[in-house]
Amino acid sequence: MAEFDYDLFVLGAGSGGTRASRVAAAHGARVAVAEEYRVGGTCVIRGCVPKKLLVYGAHFAEDLRDAAHFGWDVPSPCAFSWTRLRDNVLREVDRIEGAYTQTLNSKGVTILPQRAVVTGPNSVRLADGSEVTAERILVAVGAHPAIPECPGHEHGITSNEVFHLDALPRRILIAGGGYIANEFAGIFNEFGSQVILANRSNDILRGYDQQIRDRLLQISMTKGIDFKFNAAFRGIDKGADGCLTVHLANHDPVVVDQVLFATGRRPNTHGLGLESAGVELDELGAVKVDEDNRSTCPSIFAVGDVTNRIQLTPVAIREGQAFADSFYGNQPSRVDYGCVPSAVFSHPPLAGVGLTEAEARQQLGSVKVYSSDFRPMKNVLADRNERALYKMVCDGVTDRVVGIHMIGPDVPEILQAAAVAVKAGLTKADFDATVALHPSMAEELVLLK
Ligand code: NDP
Repeated sequence: MAEFDYDLFVLGAGSGGTRASRVAAAHGARVAVAEEYRVGGTCVIRGCVPKKLLVYGAHFAEDLRDAAHFGWDVPSPCAFSWTRLRDNVLREVDRIEGAYTQTLNSKGVTILPQRAVVTGPNSVRLADGSEVTAERILVAVGAHPAIPECPGHEHGITSNEVFHLDALPRRILIAGGGYIANEFAGIFNEFGSQVILANRSNDILRGYDQQIRDRLLQISMTKGIDFKFNAAFRGIDKGADGCLTVHLANHDPVVVDQVLFATGRRPNTHGLGLESAGVELDELGAVKVDEDNRSTCPSIFAVGDVTNRIQLTPVAIREGQAFADSFYGNQPSRVDYGCVPSAVFSHPPLAGVGLTEAEARQQLGSVKVYSSDFRPMKNVLADRNERALYKMVCDGVTDRVVGIHMIGPDVPEILQAAAVAVKAGLTKADFDATVALHPSMAEELVLLK
């Protein structure tokens, strides 16, 4: 008789937990996964997937405005139904959740739709009170939106609620200047809301190349988004009419209909019982793990946002895969965190891989930067004065491309392919040796001066 109920017990059926569960089960392990909310996790249920679908919806606003230049007469103003888009998006989320559930079932993974907490190195307790044992436990519980402590914060919403709004807000203030803030600023602005983005610092999207961030700021302001910087959040008053008065440091109060907090995310470790098993957390509450995703308790592992390494779905998936292959597939593997590409689905989107110009100048002795600042063909005909910017950062001695940073239409699609070249260590000369694909925007990458 087996010593434990399962070989592997996974907490959380998000991107990392689902991948680890199904791969471990495919390798022959007896696996159970507990999920307190919905199979799919943040990315599928209230993150990347519904967000990207809203971004598609928002792009129609631009296309409809540009249509006349391409010969199409579209009634103006065009009617937009938020509730129709919202319901279609939520239906698609349901479909994907179903597909994830089916995959887990087909691999023989036991899904337990309830919260589980760790009670020891090899045991968990489920919400129904039952105790389950496992040889290994994988913590893949993700993270949650962090909200600044301030009076009236309960009147604001987060990315958890934003996909379910009953109506489009006429005026919305978005707190934060990172991924979620800039993506939703673009979405709501295209839908016709008046958007204010308020950040505590004097910049947006820390970590991305400065020139690319500056270009997004300039285009967003031209599109009508109002930015307030050095605007630490002080509080919200709700009036009898339902309007929200927002108090910000260094700025006059602003009155809006909705406040969206996009001020970072914190690991979901509170009350999870990890301390009882000797699992150490860092100062933000993230599970400390080694290169094999092992915590300070030898039988407990963690992957994804709960470890606060790189908070991106494809990274969590790789971590889950590496964990399952290493411990159940006899294929030891570790995630390579170098040159992870990322994108912000703002309007227009931006994307980057490798070192920014500032990082390269700090880390390498000599740096060469090539760039192209151009107006995409489609924008010219549409009379849209919106310029794209592509930058290639190279090691000045070896000519190796160490970073590519882009803003403009479809750049996440273009950067994914370019990231292969950066990861492979190709040089500027390799790019130059490739014949341009004309006419495209991507061809600028092999024509950089
Ligand atoms: P980000 O870390 O991108 O940005 C957080 C923003 O909030 C920063 O501008 C920061 O200011 C500000 N902030 C942080 N703490 C506070 C505070 N206490 N009070 C006021 N402002 C604060 O977080 P997001 O919430 O936008 O997204 C969370 C994570 O989710 C991202 O880091 C990303 O990894 C992931 N994500 C990825 C997406 C993608 O791949 N396209 C899309 C959405 C999310 P400061 O300027 O000082 O740093």
